[in-house]
Amino acid sequence: MKIAVDEARTGINAGHGGPFGCVIVRNGEIVGQGHNEVVKRKDPTCHGEVMAIRNACKALGTYDLSGCELYTTAEPCPMCRGAILWANISRVYYGCNVNDTDRIGFRDKVFYEGGEDISEELDREECLKVFEEYTALNDKKQY
Ligand SMILES: [Zn+2]
Repeated sequence: MKIAVDEARTGINAGHGGPFGCVIVRNGEIVGQGHNEVVKRKDPTCHGEVMAIRNACKALGTYDLSGCELYTTAEPCPMCRGAILWANISRVYYGCNVNDTDRIGFRDKVFYEGGEDISEELDREECLKVFEEYTALNDKKQY
């Protein structure tokens, strides 16, 4: 967690984004780390956890981080929680909780409650065709 805090500090001092740092560990060894770079990259998905997941996947040459543990300075937002689950990360340790994050002005809290419903179904039949094409492939993988 100390290294995650250092990552967060590096990020805020460089003006990269919020005070969020993250480290991913496998078998006691750091395999990826990162900090929030939303401002630097002008990309709202560049949260510390996502940056660390990208780095770990690149370093290990896989999209599957099974057996890895993630340390982050703040409780993962719903987007990062989703990314963590997609990556099969086994355990998460966080420092500050969502109320702490809310207190310094980040709006995660509304997303935990689902946010505004902005989605609706469109052209399902057309999209199902590509699903069928996918299921017909012999070498399909499970992502
Ligand atoms: Zn996040």
